[in-house]
Amino acid sequence: MIKKILIANRGEIACRVIKTARTLGIATVAVYSEADENALHVNMADEAVYLGKAPAKDSYLKADLILQEAKRLGVDAIHPGYGFLSENAAFADSCEQANIVFIGPPSDAIRAMGSKSAAKRIMEQAGVPLVPGYHGDDQKPDTLKQHAANMGYPVLLKAAAGGGGKGMRQVHSESEFDQALAAAKREAQSAFGDDIMLVEKYLTQPRHVEIQVFCDQQGNGVYLFERDCSVQRRHQKVIEEAPAPGLNDQLRTHMGEAALKAAQAINYVGAGTVEFLLDIDGSFYFMEMNTRLQVEHPVTEMITGEDLVAWQIKVANGQPLPKQQSELTLNGHAFEARIYAEDADNDFLPATGRLTLLRPPEETQNVRVDTGVVEGDEVSVYYDPMIAKLIVWDTDRQRALLRLQRALRQYHIDGVITNINFLYNLACSQPFVNADLSTTFIEKHNDLLF
Ligand code: ADP
Repeated sequence: MIKKILIANRGEIACRVIKTARTLGIATVAVYSEADENALHVNMADEAVYLGKAPAKDSYLKADLILQEAKRLGVDAIHPGYGFLSENAAFADSCEQANIVFIGPPSDAIRAMGSKSAAKRIMEQAGVPLVPGYHGDDQKPDTLKQHAANMGYPVLLKAAAGGGGKGMRQVHSESEFDQALAAAKREAQSAFGDDIMLVEKYLTQPRHVEIQVFCDQQGNGVYLFERDCSVQRRHQKVIEEAPAPGLNDQLRTHMGEAALKAAQAINYVGAGTVEFLLDIDGSFYFMEMNTRLQVEHPVTEMITGEDLVAWQIKVANGQPLPKQQSELTLNGHAFEARIYAEDADNDFLPATGRLTLLRPPEETQNVRVDTGVVEGDEVSVYYDPMIAKLIVWDTDRQRALLRLQRALRQYHIDGVITNINFLYNLACSQPFVNADLSTTFIEKHNDLLF
């Protein structure tokens, strides 16, 4: 049984994992960089280990050092959070070799989903519906262009190794193709060291609907319903909600079952998310699978009443899933807004500085704030500038949205520019109130949001 966990991460997700570990009576070890010496996650953990300088490559990405410290401190398991080493198959292997449980899927499953093109080939075989497109090995520009012409413009070029919306380009006509391909490849090469490209049919008004799945080591799997993450900026999520508005039970079941089929095709274990694009006509298509706990997992926790980190730890212990599909119920509606240090009026430029005032709304049964900072902390250039996640719940969407609006109005931060006003405008805008969602929401309603 796991008695001591090292959390190989920082910020809000490190704090989130520590909270659950505590409730389960599990000891915790934090890791930190020079910039995080006095960070909340370090203060919350039972022990803390210094890793190195602020840049992630000198600290949070130092897999060997983290493992060495884990062994020295008698840790039984490592929780990688999201980002950093969470989807690093070699790290999962090294943990296993060191006899330390990696709280995540088997390394084979990480590898299988690590490339969007390999993942699509596996899903094709498993009979999961795919975004129409080309995901083959032949990467000659002419081949890619021919496939684009066959499927018809607009198309989306996507890096197979991609993530965080990088290495993606929309192409509207053949005349733009060569230039867009070169740009996407360049970006992919510099971000991921790999420039293999997929070509996909570009859906013009889809929704991003993703399914939370969970599998245990005994081969059982369940889905914990869906999240709608359509509201995005540059392919990055801004506000997420659960359940997806207007999704009927039949479609929910179809998507849930398709997601489980995807997970079972790669013998998945633990928490995973299967991302789909949902078209206006109700067709849905597999995009990719994320083999980790997602940033937006709290909205699922709010509508199911389950603690997903506790589930992860139980499954990692070899215990069966805490609940079967028929025991899981969907209750009410939840939103998550990502509070970022960024300047919405200046092309969302990341902001830095000291949080001279940090006054979040009061946390209640209905309002949750997941954060890794306290007043006086510095938002630095080294890491993702997310300050907190604001999560609200109520019995239906309309009531939950009122809570979101109110909580955003009550959120006060000084010293660092934030996107709170932008989020508030978004939450109050008529199309959002009407749940008129698509991945182009922000572009389309630009005039209402600033
Ligand atoms: P990443 O891993 O970089 O986040 P994804 O494949 O998950 O990339 O796609 C991110 C977002 O890009 C999606 O949520 C969606 O908004 C948009 N997108 C991806 N594929 C398509 C497509 N074929 N048509 C339209 N939009 C797409």
